[in-house]
Amino acid sequence: MPKRSSEAPSPLAGAFDIAGFRAGLLGWFAANARDLPWRRTLDPYHVWLSEIMLQQTQMDRAVQYFERFLARFPDVSSLALAHEDEVLKLWEGLGYYSRARNLMAAARVILNGHGGVFPATFEAVRALPGVGPYTAGAVMSVAYNDHRPAVDANVERVLSRVLDIDRPVSEPAVKRRILAAAWELVPPGESRAFNQGLMELGALICAPRKPDCPRCPVSGLCLARERGTALSRPVPTAKPETIRVDMACGVLVTGGQVFIQKRRRGDVWPGLWEFPGGVMEPGETPEAAMVREFREETELRVRPVGKIAVVRTSYTRYRITLHGYFCQAEPGQDPASDHRLHEADEARLVRPQELGVFAFPSGHARLLTRMLTDVRLEGLLTSAD
Ligand code: SF4
Repeated sequence: MPKRSSEAPSPLAGAFDIAGFRAGLLGWFAANARDLPWRRTLDPYHVWLSEIMLQQTQMDRAVQYFERFLARFPDVSSLALAHEDEVLKLWEGLGYYSRARNLMAAARVILNGHGGVFPATFEAVRALPGVGPYTAGAVMSVAYNDHRPAVDANVERVLSRVLDIDRPVSEPAVKRRILAAAWELVPPGESRAFNQGLMELGALICAPRKPDCPRCPVSGLCLARERGTALSRPVPTAKPETIRVDMACGVLVTGGQVFIQKRRRGDVWPGLWEFPGGVMEPGETPEAAMVREFREETELRVRPVGKIAVVRTSYTRYRITLHGYFCQAEPGQDPASDHRLHEADEARLVRPQELGVFAFPSGHARLLTRMLTDVRLEGLLTSAD
């Protein structure tokens, strides 16, 4: 049985009823566990996929994507052999695309380094691309019932309330204290149910804004409930300021096709497709920014021929306003042969009905939807440039 690394004194008060906490939680989870698709099997591939999808994603949305993803990639091998464009397309709308790329990279490690068999030790799971200590702990405990905790944001919230911790959970010392408490609480032989139960309690009962203490199976052991501090636990961390960004991009329509480019490796959203464009400069109009950016990124000179829409989207702490335009090439250029890419790995001219197979970042995806239903598109597709 692995041991917690620190031999520091117990983070639980001396009289804390560990057995009562375990029994209350396990009994509650047995009666209240939600029927989620990844709980119908112990297959580590399913557990791992669900854990990756649930990062930064609401449960309902994760369920939809999980079922669609598994239908197309039912096992590690099928994912390892997939084309990146197809994986990114299935991921479109979930955001944080590095998760999808890491899934593919990890599947290839499993196929080539583990003979296609999902690893069964914490160290080997932790070594997979995109797998941190929480995910490795969750996979090991849920899939293999390995004795170790899995501390996600739900668990941090529950334990910061149970222990009434008056410092932000983002502080390393607080994280260590919560992890040490979780190690003490996990019952031998029952980490699978216990860890899931603790996460479920955070999701269903010990909710961020409205903890339902009267229905909580561990309320009698909760210091925050006893002291009336539950609503101020966990202590919030100062949020980074949001930054507003105005951007413009152009949908170049030429010869019945639309120009798209694939974002570079090492850039934001690598591997996703987009319409050329970029950040507006101070005092610049969206049209002028689109024309300038198009030229800087592709060396093509274009002119706007109609505004498609303004869409708003978020990326980490950025709040982006994206102005999208139909545009056409200035005379004397052939977009198919005259482009020179400076911000992309690849460009293609694609018929509108074929655009659906490419994955776009959310702002461009929404612009694409608006564009495809715009009555002006048909005229542009059939017009001479
Ligand atoms: Fe959370 Fe209330 Fe339960 Fe404490 S008693 S763990 S605050 S739901």
